[in-house]
Amino acid sequence: MPPVRRRFGQHFLKDAAIVDRIIRAIDARPGERIVEIGPGRGALTIPLLRTAGALDVVEVDRDLAAELVERCQGTGRLNLVRQDVLTVDFAEFGPAPLKVVGNLPYNISTPLLFHLLGFNQVGHMLFMLQKEVVDRICAAAGTPEYGRLSVMVQARCRAEKLFDVAPAAFSPRPNVDSAVVRLTVLPEAAGRIRDFNRFTELVRAAFSARRKKISNGLKPWFDAAQLEELNISPSARPADLSVADYINLSNS
Ligand code: SAM
Repeated sequence: MPPVRRRFGQHFLKDAAIVDRIIRAIDARPGERIVEIGPGRGALTIPLLRTAGALDVVEVDRDLAAELVERCQGTGRLNLVRQDVLTVDFAEFGPAPLKVVGNLPYNISTPLLFHLLGFNQVGHMLFMLQKEVVDRICAAAGTPEYGRLSVMVQARCRAEKLFDVAPAAFSPRPNVDSAVVRLTVLPEAAGRIRDFNRFTELVRAAFSARRKKISNGLKPWFDAAQLEELNISPSARPADLSVADYINLSNS
């Protein structure tokens, strides 16, 4: 068996009951286009291949990738992309809606989520992530966990935390708790934000000074009078603004 490479965030699922819960939550249908990120030793890949019949997977570790191809022989059509997922063009996996799933490498989870949000082809996502990241994704405005990640994800998706997973479910054990999250891209997502790059920049600027007034972070875009016209108090903190407020600001 290939060595465990910690630089690739390798924590393999060993708890069959957790694997089963994740597979049921993914709810793969025959003919559906599913992409798994980081298949590793195939804990999710093999049951997914059995139900979906075909699967695209993206794995960066060449030794794991070679072993996986052998393991999956005779279990369906596996298309393996041996590449860093952050450089993968998800538009190439075919028409919308793609379902993207995986027990993600935690060291790249935030940049990976931002990368995926840039593809209109992605319709559904189901991921195991660090619990703290799932809490930030699902956080409501005004809470300590609410921030740039919450706004960016919730602007495009309905986010639901499904269940927590303890370190004992993995080998080797991670030092943190994990959780499974379902992200469903909103039907209106594509038309909701006029300019996604502008939205990204605006949210980044707003949260760059999290404890300061929103008027500070947004100075290059809006003065106090313009914020008030949009029903936003210039003295509010970035975490007080709802996702709809950020979309309004970006579209105005
Ligand atoms: N799916 C397997 C499981 O649940 O047992 C392995 C999950 S492990 C947490 C993360 C997987 O992502 C590993 O197989 C690792 O090699 C792979 N990986 C890490 N960084 C990656 C990257 N940048 N691009 C693609 N795969 C990556």
